[in-house]
Amino acid sequence: MTIIAEHLQELKGSAVSRVTVRAKQLESEGRDIIRLSAGEPDCGTPDHIKIAAIKAITEGKTQYPLIQGIPELREAICRKLKRDNELSYTPEEVIVSVGCKQVIFNAMVATLNPEDEVIVPTPYFVSYPSMIEINRGKPVFISTRQENRFKLTPEDLEKAISTKTRWVFINNPGNPSGAVYTKEEFQALAEVLRRHPKVWILSDDIYEFMTFDGVKFCSLLQVAPDLKGRTLIANGVSKAYAMTGWRVGYGVGPANLIKTMLKVQSQSTSGTCSISQWASVAALDSDQSLIEKYNKVLKERRDLVVSIINSIEGLSCDAPQGAFYCYISCGGIIGKKTPRGDIIATDFDFSNFLMEECGVAVVHGEAFGLSPYFRISYATEIEKLKLACTKIAEACSVLC
Ligand code: PMP
Repeated sequence: MTIIAEHLQELKGSAVSRVTVRAKQLESEGRDIIRLSAGEPDCGTPDHIKIAAIKAITEGKTQYPLIQGIPELREAICRKLKRDNELSYTPEEVIVSVGCKQVIFNAMVATLNPEDEVIVPTPYFVSYPSMIEINRGKPVFISTRQENRFKLTPEDLEKAISTKTRWVFINNPGNPSGAVYTKEEFQALAEVLRRHPKVWILSDDIYEFMTFDGVKFCSLLQVAPDLKGRTLIANGVSKAYAMTGWRVGYGVGPANLIKTMLKVQSQSTSGTCSISQWASVAALDSDQSLIEKYNKVLKERRDLVVSIINSIEGLSCDAPQGAFYCYISCGGIIGKKTPRGDIIATDFDFSNFLMEECGVAVVHGEAFGLSPYFRISYATEIEKLKLACTKIAEACSVLC
């Protein structure tokens, strides 16, 4: 008999981590692997944030912090929401957790009853379905389409809502799609949501600052403030300030939900590292111009990747308007044969081929719930990106 819970027998670890582990294994065997798999900025945490952390250590701010998050950080988050999103919240409506991931996880623990449905548009952030399933909920997937820049349509949303729907997940800008919703698109989705007052909205805004081509991020609540009483915003400092390792995320929503998430957190992690929280105060309160500078770098890299990829027969990708990923169709590759005679039947086979044969680590679309695609993270030096794309082109040219 197994010790593993029945509903977790099929639980998968994160596909992105699996790819990274394999890449590291190949590197330890002496192979050169260009890793385009991880979702993290390559610019390093800015110095003023590191200095704030060192100051917190030297001042002895090293004891258990308040479980909900230090008041100074929750106040800084409220200031940020007012400044960047024109949203008014009080520190009681904010919880600080171990990354944006724990915010979402806490929300699922706090709200899901067995068999409750959670609508997840595909392609999705790899962890969403498992977070729902671990908490005995049921993910209900809605496929989006490349022609529609992978955005959820009001018609598809309406069709997917049932009496069991508890949440709709909206990730804007999207990982892995790079999709960014316009105000008009949010208006149309809000119209549907208004017809279903029991449905809650999880707005994952972690890539809020990463938008290109003059496209501006807008929060769902900015266009539909009437949904505030049933919306949880999940965000954090990981992507905007290159702080993935500091593990600071925050949830913002109705006080009664936050209160239960707080109880869950008090019985699990007790919240996140005090030093990271002080560093996050500095991140949110200081000059924000570094974000804009990094975006310019990202845009240049995106343009390079999109132009090389679209010159490769069998692959295609529209320039994504946000985040730092390209979600590339490999539909034209499926069914081809490698020089060894293996058939590339799935995007997993293709991603595997890219890793094993040409030393480029990417993540297969199946991990994000929409095939046949693969994801490239372009938060990597431009020379490496150029080399990786050239290797991908060479690899494709030997398939027949
Ligand atoms: N949401 C999305 C859409 C993400 O891509 C990620 C990280 N890859 C997270 C949440 C998790 O963020 P954190 O590192 O702050 O837990």
